[in-house]
Amino acid sequence: MSNIPELFGEDVFNLKVMKQRLPKETFKALKKTIDNAEPLDLSVANVVANAMKDWAVEKGATHFTHWFQPMTGLTAEKHDSFISPTPDGGVIMELSGKELIKGEPDASSFPSGGLRATFEARGYTAWDPTSYAFIKDGSLCIPTAFCSYTGEALDKKTPLLRSMDAVSKSALKILDLFGVKANRVSSTVGPEQEYFLIEREDYAKRKDLIYTGRTLFGAPAPKGQELEDHYFGSVKMRVSAYMKDLDEELWKLGITAKTKHNEVAPAQHELAPIFSTTNIASDHNQLTMEAMRKTAKKHGFKCLLHEKPFAGVNGSGKHNNWSLSTDTGINLLDPGKTPAENAQFLLFLTAVIKAVNKYQDLLRLSVATAGNDHRLGANEAPPAIISIFLGDELTAILDAICNDVDYDNDGVADLQIGVDVLPSFPKDNTDRNRTSPFAFTGNRFEFRMPGSRLSVAGPNTVLNTIVAEVLDEFAEKLTGVDDFQGTLHELIKETIKENQNIIFNGDGYSDEWPKEAEKRGLLNLRSTPEAIPHFADPKNIEVFEKHGVYTETEIRSRVEILLEEYVKILNIEALTMIDMAKKDILPAVSSYVRKLSQTAKLAKECGADPAYEIDLVKKLTDLEKETYKNLQNLEDITVKASGIEDMKEAATFYHDEVLTAMGMLRAPADQLETLVGEKYWPYPTYGKMLFYV
Ligand code: ADP
Ligand code: MG
Repeated sequence: MSNIPELFGEDVFNLKVMKQRLPKETFKALKKTIDNAEPLDLSVANVVANAMKDWAVEKGATHFTHWFQPMTGLTAEKHDSFISPTPDGGVIMELSGKELIKGEPDASSFPSGGLRATFEARGYTAWDPTSYAFIKDGSLCIPTAFCSYTGEALDKKTPLLRSMDAVSKSALKILDLFGVKANRVSSTVGPEQEYFLIEREDYAKRKDLIYTGRTLFGAPAPKGQELEDHYFGSVKMRVSAYMKDLDEELWKLGITAKTKHNEVAPAQHELAPIFSTTNIASDHNQLTMEAMRKTAKKHGFKCLLHEKPFAGVNGSGKHNNWSLSTDTGINLLDPGKTPAENAQFLLFLTAVIKAVNKYQDLLRLSVATAGNDHRLGANEAPPAIISIFLGDELTAILDAICNDVDYDNDGVADLQIGVDVLPSFPKDNTDRNRTSPFAFTGNRFEFRMPGSRLSVAGPNTVLNTIVAEVLDEFAEKLTGVDDFQGTLHELIKETIKENQNIIFNGDGYSDEWPKEAEKRGLLNLRSTPEAIPHFADPKNIEVFEKHGVYTETEIRSRVEILLEEYVKILNIEALTMIDMAKKDILPAVSSYVRKLSQTAKLAKECGADPAYEIDLVKKLTDLEKETYKNLQNLEDITVKASGIEDMKEAATFYHDEVLTAMGMLRAPADQLETLVGEKYWPYPTYGKMLFYV
């Protein structure tokens, strides 16, 4: 491998390159824009564009693209070459400031949830200078936000950037009260990305994986993950070669790929980068998923990013580690060592606790997708109920504050916030309670509900906004008071008291927890159609509008888009199952039955007793009949579903009826798989896919 520090970021127009290639004044102006998220002048943009183009062309790029993240959750790009004709019939390579700053892709083919109907079809992309441009496949990619002509966000980046501004403003107000100087507070994220690798050959044989990303049929393999021999196990050679290659690809793009290991399920792995600001983490995570897929192809693998590719085997998530950091390098969720740092920490901590409690619905719905529905609450991932894990020590400290009692572990009596030093508590590194959806892990929170395929922009937009809201509320209560220390103490105490119901350190997988959670008044939004409509609840519209993150119109359009996406995914899944059962599974069973019957007939003619064949033919035909009946049922129900116009009604119907009918078709078909001779079965089995790499 080449020199890593040299390789790192070699395809990125980062600060180092900017410094080398831009005139001093231009660099200063751009740096200010990046640091403070300020607008950039066109004259500066012209100089930057030209330098960017020269750099890209030297690296072999011929095109540029405004790289954006429409509501599909994927990334989009439309490539233009740098060529510009000259009067003598030749061309020069050009990129103007205007082209750098603004693009005008046709927005009509991206989901807009009604925004398109009321406004123009055209949209525009606007350069986001806070995320570096980079070269990918011979194109200079310029990270951009994507909006309609009237300014509505049509993408995931715009609201995220707005939420980052909101949380920065609110956090600065609090820091000001503590006399801490900073220019900006950034939310930081380190997303841990899980994925499966299977043989590309196997993938190509399964319509379900091709069309839907998950298996819709498949009997369990004799071995699953019960021996727990895969987690952190030694990585197989081919996989290891893949991981090395992937790391290198990511490093070139300036992505700080750091940790890699095998995960719990067979054929499952994880990659975690070093955290960065939410915007960059979100862009980088999108690039990481793309690189995972591409690199897999090179190595003869298929990378599955679906949240639940295999039934009965752990699904894949994306743990979202989140914190707040000042531009001076202070992590606001780090407890610190002095009474002042402790007090500030406790205030930010309780703000997060209150925000998560008050806006449970928003956090839950920010991770609601058809794929993730198979994971949440499935005894491998956190339940669909939001709760917070703080660990025993921190909980005991908060209890002591709350009840004005001694925290006797360290002999601290009547802990006075801002006066006493917090008793030290271990960062719960060993017992991280993997069953909690939202866990404090020493100096950050880990939100474990997001599914592996999700863009982290959504959940972080929510987190930033709801925390901004509570910080604002706190700032108001603390501003201009005579006794800051006393008011602070009371505020923290009251907030903990009022929000104790959301704190849960126990086993989130246990059967008792949903009952207990219900008693505590916590929400349990089990499915996507149940969760998504809460986006437009009055309190949620209010908080987003107040902080300038989403307008009501943008929220309503998103509800529509998300429900429609759910409906479309389920419809594709149902049609794929129908196709597989009709064209592959039933014909396979039929030929096997025929083979057995012929054998039985011949055996009888020879005077033998074909007990095995006869018995099996009977079992197979019974199951075949049931499969056929359930297939017809699924067909009928899917036709009915596709006739429902109202999105919420349709989504609910798909969830309640279509999904159930799909399960009914799968059950006898999976039983058939266990009976039909391997040669006759049309698809690679779970055993083959999960254990043969
Ligand atoms: P584990 O699997 O034990 O949870 P990993 O090392 O796989 O831990 O991932 C932890 C992630 O948390 C990394 O991406 C890391 O960079 C990130 N992280 C650490 N500190 C912060 C922080 N202050 N803000 C956001 N993310 C952080
Ligand atoms: Mg990890």
